[in-house]
Amino acid sequence: MTVATLEVQDLFVRYGKSIVAVQGASIEVREGEIVSLLGQNGAGKSTILKSIAGIVAPLSGTIRYGETDLTGKGAPRIPAGIAYVPEDRGVFASLSVGENLRLGAISRRDRREIDADVESQLERFPILRKYWSRGASLLSGGEQQQLAIARALMIRPRLLLLDEPTLGLAPIIVDLIFEVVQQLNAEGVTILLVEQNAVRSIDVSDRSYVIQAPGRILGSGDARQLADNPEVVEYLGFSPLGGETERGK
Ligand code: ATP
Repeated sequence: MTVATLEVQDLFVRYGKSIVAVQGASIEVREGEIVSLLGQNGAGKSTILKSIAGIVAPLSGTIRYGETDLTGKGAPRIPAGIAYVPEDRGVFASLSVGENLRLGAISRRDRREIDADVESQLERFPILRKYWSRGASLLSGGEQQQLAIARALMIRPRLLLLDEPTLGLAPIIVDLIFEVVQQLNAEGVTILLVEQNAVRSIDVSDRSYVIQAPGRILGSGDARQLADNPEVVEYLGFSPLGGETERGK
């Protein structure tokens, strides 16, 4: 299998005529990495993820995943090998946990392997086994997030796009989600993570992009590179190597 790099170049996205959501963003995610997109509300992080997942159409720029051009005409809406977990989790409220999980594999034909994958997701997220027959609408936010990630994994993605997976969740579930992100990455899944929790994200990521509205990349790199960028430190309100700025206090 060839190595597949995700390359987003000079991305511009507008909503309607006047709302500029992304302005010339370029990001790269190499196979095997965890990369995060950080920034305040409305910075354009989700829009970048939605552009990669084929949910919004960019005005200009290119998105390539390995050999596949995702921006050209006829680009697949959700490209093969990529799974996307939206910010609202997108679980089917009227279906049970088990039905949601199995739906993740709807495009697969290898029935026996599907059963094995269901089992491995239930091992990863024991709460889903406990609530297998329960309606998804009855799950808590943290349980729904686990279901959403488990369902995305049922397509056996090489690249997982996660939009704010810890938003509004209790600290113990936030810990669990960050652990799962690292565990999946150790199993070979490449991860592009949109997060508000900058400290935790920088810690688990190979590289982070700091994005400022409207969708402009202020800086990128590992903790040290980000800490060396005064604009980034000022915007984040803390130094990724420790210490707060006046704003972050
Ligand atoms: P958050 O952390 O709040 O989710 P974000 O960094 O992910 O923010 P986006 O959701 O990408 O930011 O939004 C970028 C800009 O685009 C914001 O100004 C937002 O109001 C606007 N926007 C997002 N979705 C739409 C939409 N469907 N229609 C119009 N404007 C939108």
